[in-house]
Amino acid sequence: MIFPVIGSIATTSVVSIEINNTISSAIKKMFEHEHRNIVIIDDNVYRILRVSDILNIKAKKIDLNSSLKNLELLEIPTLNRDKNILHTLEYLSCEVEYICATNDDGSLYGLISHTDIISSIDPDTLMDNFCLLDFLKLSRRTKWIGKDVKTTDLLYEMAKNSFESVIVIDDFTPIGIFTTKDVLKVIEKNEDLNLPISRYMSTPVETISKNCSVKEALDFLKQKHYKRVVVVDDDGKMSGVISQKELIATTYSRWAVLTKEYQHELSEINTALVKKNIKYKEIASRDPLTKLYNRYKFTELYKSSFEAMIEGEHKMSLIMVDIDNFKKINDTYGHNVGDDVIVQISQTLIKNLRNIDIVCRWGGEEFVILLTSAGINNATILAEKLRKYIEELEINSVGKISASFGVCQINEEDDLKSAVNRADEALYLAKKSGKNCVKQQIK
Ligand code: GH3
Ligand code: MG
Ligand code: MG
Repeated sequence: MIFPVIGSIATTSVVSIEINNTISSAIKKMFEHEHRNIVIIDDNVYRILRVSDILNIKAKKIDLNSSLKNLELLEIPTLNRDKNILHTLEYLSCEVEYICATNDDGSLYGLISHTDIISSIDPDTLMDNFCLLDFLKLSRRTKWIGKDVKTTDLLYEMAKNSFESVIVIDDFTPIGIFTTKDVLKVIEKNEDLNLPISRYMSTPVETISKNCSVKEALDFLKQKHYKRVVVVDDDGKMSGVISQKELIATTYSRWAVLTKEYQHELSEINTALVKKNIKYKEIASRDPLTKLYNRYKFTELYKSSFEAMIEGEHKMSLIMVDIDNFKKINDTYGHNVGDDVIVQISQTLIKNLRNIDIVCRWGGEEFVILLTSAGINNATILAEKLRKYIEELEINSVGKISASFGVCQINEEDDLKSAVNRADEALYLAKKSGKNCVKQQIK
């Protein structure tokens, strides 16, 4: 589940004004920008002036040339723009439609409305199986009225109850909607408010069935850029009105509860997967008998070491080791003893090499060692030491054994294959010279 940060979803085209300005300058700014609200900056607090507040101002006959300070404007919560969207949850259930996104210094970054939140929700992550019917009882702030009600009466009701929209009905069939946007229009055009609301309502009003899922309703709102939708029953009669806010609040809080409930399990699953992944990576890169790197991993390590060599100043060398007369050991003592010999040789190699050297079981009783910081001379000295350690080993039931060594320095044209071939040539020389010795390949 991915939760976006507030900054990434906030609307940054916000109009704002300092609180010591007049009410009329705030209204003017709203009209100019065609915004239905304006953020009022009051020291460290952000307030909001909405159309419904303007209606109240008109009703109370407040002087528009007085300061915004004289109004009791709603404070809006603020959240740092880096917080994730889950932090908006606690505010979704309160009166406020908006949250201010702020920069680190507390200055205004943008505004988040429920529309912004809904646009950033992936509806697939929301519940498919909640039907609108379950939510209708929540709807409190929308009212429906008959088509013949006088506009002035409705405006009075809207201001008194802070209704943001009213559905106009004709015998319980929704025929229009009257929103705060229409309020602005009516006031601006100075319309005759004694006429019935059916004159000024917006038509038609789109509806959805009460049997729709929450997901379908959210998709509908998102697509239409609506804040609310009228829900009808099978006969097309009003069932209720459901707002984005209610849908989001309920769905999000359910989502948050689920996330919290399963957090422990999710983190356990995650840890197990990480562990498994490490284990599989190990398995894929190690030889099961000796636990040395296998060819696959060695090839990878060669490539990265080679790049470092090209970029840096240090030299690299390769040693190829092959146990002498190993076939005879197998034939005499059996395969299991042969395996033990291979394991003991690999441990001797590991014990006497530095951490920066990389040892690989190349095949049967052959090993390749990449010395990541040694030229041919140091590599030969080291190979000679290893040869001696092996020679000195006293192996259970087998006794003394030996190994032959081929050494080459890696040059800038080498890939792993050509380097191994040259080390192998040196090894062949060592075998031909009577085994149990170190030979160089010098190109
Ligand atoms: P040389 O001194 O020339 O290297 O003689 P050699 O006998 O060591 O050479 P050769 O490569 O002919 O024999 C290697 C043998 O190693 C053949 C194969 O059966 C055996 N072998 C390969 N892998 C394993 C393994 O995992 N375990 C055991 N026990 N034997 C293995
Ligand atoms: Mg061999
Ligand atoms: Mg051999």
